[in-house]
Amino acid sequence: MERLQKVIAYAGVASRRKAEELILEGKVKVNGKTVTELGTKVSNSDVVEVNGVKLEKEDKVYFLLYKPRGYISAVTDDKGRQTVVDIFGKHVIERIFPVGRLDYDTSGLLLLTNDGEFANLMTHPKFKIDKTYIARVKGVPDKKGLMALQNGIKLEDGKTAPAKVSMTSFDETAKKAICEITIHEGRNRQVRRMFEAIGTPVVKLKRERFAFLDLGNLTPGEYRQLTKHEVKQLR
Ligand code: URA
Repeated sequence: MERLQKVIAYAGVASRRKAEELILEGKVKVNGKTVTELGTKVSNSDVVEVNGVKLEKEDKVYFLLYKPRGYISAVTDDKGRQTVVDIFGKHVIERIFPVGRLDYDTSGLLLLTNDGEFANLMTHPKFKIDKTYIARVKGVPDKKGLMALQNGIKLEDGKTAPAKVSMTSFDETAKKAICEITIHEGRNRQVRRMFEAIGTPVVKLKRERFAFLDLGNLTPGEYRQLTKHEVKQLR
């Protein structure tokens, strides 16, 4: 069961806000009856009409994209920048959107789907899905810094949960290092803020893994569909 305004928004008919307005204005019907209650929950078998037009039920699709740097994790961008959905162009007709976000300058593994419920599951903090990043940083983190990242570090929005961190290479002379970090939270610019907090800011960031999925042989800008089995394992 899902909230009516969310179902309308996920179908791509209107934003969540606009969907709420449509409901309040009496323009939405569920199984033939006008519904004006915002909290109304509907299931997949309910027939929803907006302004007399039935919401189409799309087949659910799931993609794993190797996001290149320089794309925003959104469906559209009001500043006219390229979005991750643009990469799919005409090849995918379903109304897909990214599951969570990678920063504009971050590359790596990003899932996209038209399945709102799946997206919620994947991004809900309760499910604690591991995400592994490779961070190239400026400077060489010391033991104390790495321990702080590992145990949780204070950021403006609270202490981070324990993380797995290792330094895979470093160069004292050139003052740079490469670290691997696995976190299960998904706060805004979290990895960048964590390394910034220990004095070694990130210069390049890539997401290598999401749960048990990795990038395999994909190159930046390439994508593949998840198998039914993978989707089932993720749920
Ligand atoms: N953490 C970040 O700082 N950026 C990302 O894109 C993802 C995680």
